[in-house]
Amino acid sequence: MFCKIVAAELPAERVLESSRTIAFRDANPQAPVHVLVIPKEHHANAVALAEAGDGLLAEVIRQAHRVAIAEGISEDGYRLVFNTGTRAGQTVFHVHAHVLGGRAMTWPPG
Ligand code: 5GP
Repeated sequence: MFCKIVAAELPAERVLESSRTIAFRDANPQAPVHVLVIPKEHHANAVALAEAGDGLLAEVIRQAHRVAIAEGISEDGYRLVFNTGTRAGQTVFHVHAHVLGGRAMTWPPG
C-alpha cells in the first residue's frame, strides 16, 4: 500500500523527502506529531531493511530525526517505533518508522 504513496497513486501529506525516503503524516495520528518515514524501495519490515544493507535503514532513521527537528520535537524528545509483525500491531508490510511526539509519551506503551 505504501508503494502507492511512493508512486503518488495514493495521496499523503508529505513533510520531507530524500532521494531514497519519504516522510508523510499518519492518516490516524496517535500524537500531535505522528509522521511515518518509509524507504521508497519495498522491504517488509525493519529486519528485512537492515539485511538489505547499503545504509538505507540508517537513512530512514536520519530522516526521522530531521522530521523531529522540522516538527519542533527533537529537543523535548520523540518516540521512534518500528512495529514488527502482526502481534506488535504491524498492519502495513512496507517498513515504516513512526515518529511520535508533541505530548508526553507513556512507557510502557499499551
Ligand atoms: P503499523 O500498524 O503497520 O505499524 O502502522 C501503519 C500506520 O499506517 C497506521 O498508523 C495507520 O494509521 C497508517 N496508515 C495506514 N494506511 C495509511 C494511508 O493510506 N495513508 C496514511 N497517511 N497513513 C496510513
